[in-house]
Amino acid sequence: MTLSSSVSAPATPYVDAFERRIDYLRVSVTDRCNYRCAYCMGEAPVFLPKRELLTLEEIDRLASIFVTGGVRRLRLTGGEPLARRGLVDLAKSLSRHIAAGALDEITLTTNGSLLVPHAAALFDAGVRRINVSLDTLDPEVFARVTGGGRLADVLRGLDAARAVGFGIRLNAVVMAGVNAETIEDLVLFAHRRDMSVALIETMPIGRSNRDTSRRYVPLAHVREALARRWTLVDLPDRSHGPARYVRVEETGGRLGFITPMSHGFCRDCNRVRIAADGRLATCLGRSDGVDLKPLLRSTESDEALREAIAAAIARKPQGHVFDASRPDLGGIDRAMWSTGG
Ligand code: SAM
Ligand code: SF4
Repeated sequence: MTLSSSVSAPATPYVDAFERRIDYLRVSVTDRCNYRCAYCMGEAPVFLPKRELLTLEEIDRLASIFVTGGVRRLRLTGGEPLARRGLVDLAKSLSRHIAAGALDEITLTTNGSLLVPHAAALFDAGVRRINVSLDTLDPEVFARVTGGGRLADVLRGLDAARAVGFGIRLNAVVMAGVNAETIEDLVLFAHRRDMSVALIETMPIGRSNRDTSRRYVPLAHVREALARRWTLVDLPDRSHGPARYVRVEETGGRLGFITPMSHGFCRDCNRVRIAADGRLATCLGRSDGVDLKPLLRSTESDEALREAIAAAIARKPQGHVFDASRPDLGGIDRAMWSTGG
């Protein structure tokens, strides 16, 4: 890829109307994915035409503008980010901001199935921490949840990622009757391999809302069940993120609870997202945002883009509209796979 933009003088930091400083950006690099997870894509996703997707150069330019606005952490996601050709080049290019001291880290969220061929190059490109989504260790359940995925591919991917030295967190969406009953196994699997785990409440996002809502489990119930077996010690919150962590005394490992439905964490929200088509989503749980692509494709002025981003962030909603007492309501008809989880 050829690059045009680099970080110039630091601009005014992005701060919203509730004085939340935005220093974390997630970028969806593609809406495509080799899996069809029930809670995310369902069976028949409609993908964006290729011309609607941002090019790698456009992603680099936008992300760099965010870095000048004070973004310190960047997460590449999707869709499946490793399914996007040139992803490693993009990471390598964006790493120049780490070298310049303007960015703390670039991380990746992946389903793990394509890690074997990419892990080493990704590490060399400057990525040090990855989140790998893994809901179950049962190959049949795994295939059912992911719409045909092979668990063995992800396990091999994890081995490859551990071998090159990534810090790894497993992400598991907890679903009644699917994996809620086997979370202990997943935690033991992770902690024995020096990986942390984050459990996630299902959110009513996208078209597979109904089944997702039916399977919603408040994580307080899961925590109670785990606390009957293990001693869970609360860890201080350092990330301003939605995960609340404990250390499991018996394993020494970290376990996170991400509870968008049952507990609001919007007060401390520090993040925005760029969807695969250039829409800036200022809240995952609402439809607010602005399409940056027209401006991105019509002007060479980074300043104009910076102003559009600042204006959108100023309108960032105070909080999402999910309602834990009615997990079937408040669903967002926006695709998680193109917005970027
Ligand atoms: N394909 C990559 C993966 O699966 O890790 C990255 C994109 S995926 C959209 C990012 C995260 O969103 C995954 O951890 C996935 O489990 C989570 N996710 C997707 N749909 C969700 C939903 N309806 N509720 C909660 N989490 C969801
Ligand atoms: Fe693909 Fe990730 Fe969505 Fe599953 S959760 S369908 S792996 S984007």
